[in-house]
Amino acid sequence: MPAILDRARTQVLGDGTGLDETGVFEVLTLPDEDLPATLQLAHEVRMAWCGSDVEVEGIVSVKTGGCPEDCHFCSQSGVFASPVRAVWLDIPSLVQAARQTAATGATEFCIVAAVRGPDERLMAQVREGVAAIRAEVDINIAASLGMLTQSQVDELAAMGVHRYNHNLETARSYFPSVVTTHTWEERWDTLRMVREAGMEVCCGGILGLGESIAQRAEFAAQLGTLGPDEVPLNFLNPRPGTPLADRAVLDAKDALRAIAAFRLALPRTILRYAGGREITLGDLGTRDGLLGGINAVIVGNYLTTLGRPASEDLALLDELAMPVKALSATL
Ligand code: SF4
Repeated sequence: MPAILDRARTQVLGDGTGLDETGVFEVLTLPDEDLPATLQLAHEVRMAWCGSDVEVEGIVSVKTGGCPEDCHFCSQSGVFASPVRAVWLDIPSLVQAARQTAATGATEFCIVAAVRGPDERLMAQVREGVAAIRAEVDINIAASLGMLTQSQVDELAAMGVHRYNHNLETARSYFPSVVTTHTWEERWDTLRMVREAGMEVCCGGILGLGESIAQRAEFAAQLGTLGPDEVPLNFLNPRPGTPLADRAVLDAKDALRAIAAFRLALPRTILRYAGGREITLGDLGTRDGLLGGINAVIVGNYLTTLGRPASEDLALLDELAMPVKALSATL
């Protein structure tokens, strides 16, 4: 057994203290033959510190495409020649999407908009949408609307938005290589305000952007410092028209090693499979991740690409004897 896994067994599994940057790097550079033991340990950590429940979430985009920012991985940027154009969703469709999400057993419904930050038009739509969903559907409401001002943070908290998603996306040292229209620190400021306002913090990123293994470890450690309630892990799905269109998809074993390493850095967080897992891992990998540290999934369609049908994920959870987290456990 590699020394780093012995150390992680004592420190992370035993004491619930996540690995630091050096420890994560050691895990990320373990040879392939140690991958099964690494995933097994990450799974034990998840079961010990989070339990067997899996949190299921649906997402809906109220404003898709046409974003003024230049995140190089994102097909919703209006800066590149990608095929996604700006589209707005109306309130009845939003409520309908929340109802369909709740019908799958999901406890989380996240309202997403492709914007730098919300303007008054978007805030008004979210205000109306959240009120309509709360009146008709029994589900937790989360939001992901970009960078916020203090008054917007306060307003979202007052509306009853219980969790806010804002991804740091990648290591601080690599961020300027993939985003030039705003800074990592600006994103951090929004997360700090969200935390201070009492909303749960959801913050993750995308692996496979061209970051080095050391930067992947740096990112895990930075998330460890932030201490988010949830970390969505995306894998780059190169989108046509974006600057990263020709980048190779992350190797499946590297992706699984990263899942386990992030779990060992963040023993108590909700670690969610988000976009890109199908193209990176395939069906078999989805199962390996759920047995290697992942304890949350997004059902149905992702924002601009087609995910697996909800029924497939739910059947897999059933087979793995991992109950879907109940709403009563989260309220
Ligand atoms: S801010 Fe968000 S929606 Fe806009 S380009 Fe960046 S990742 Fe895409």
